[in-house]
Amino acid sequence: GVIAVANVAKRVVRKWQRIHSSHRWEFENAMPEETLVQMNEVRLEQVLRALLDNACKYTPDEKGIAVAVWRMEDQVYVRIRDEGEGILPEDLPHVTERFYRADKARSRQEGSVGLGLAICREIVEHYRGRFTVRSVTQGQGTEVEMMFPAYVLKKE
Ligand code: ATP
Repeated sequence: GVIAVANVAKRVVRKWQRIHSSHRWEFENAMPEETLVQMNEVRLEQVLRALLDNACKYTPDEKGIAVAVWRMEDQVYVRIRDEGEGILPEDLPHVTERFYRADKARSRQEGSVGLGLAICREIVEHYRGRFTVRSVTQGQGTEVEMMFPAYVLKKE
């Protein structure tokens, strides 16, 4: 179906904000009708949950998590940025590979398997979107940006 990404993101982020209230949250949202995308709503929720899960997991309490949804030209963008530990440059190209976990994360006993980002990327690309992970330097946080082709109503 056609969904308003801004509405889905607002609902998911609000829920996470309530549960993880020790992080500082920022949320910036475009008008819903500007953010229409042809994709499955449950899939988008799944992606957002995985990304917010990572942001919370790798960001200390009191530090910030910022989510933004906007439309620019024919694209709808979603960005999740955190002030957490960041990702080492040598790990960065691999974090969207299945079962890849950065060294630091590998030593944790949290029962995660390193599938989250790989699945997110596969879902986003399935809907002809782009999935990008950035991290400037370790300690400066991580940014995940997604870009989807905006749904445009066709005129007769
Ligand atoms: P799970 O399968 O439960 O999601 P995971 O978090 O280890 O486990 P991914 O979500 O695929 O797996 O992430 C892969 C790796 O990328 C992580 O192990 C972690 O090292 C790194 N990573 C992902 N998100 C962040 C983030 N927001 N901040 C820092 N490191 C991150």
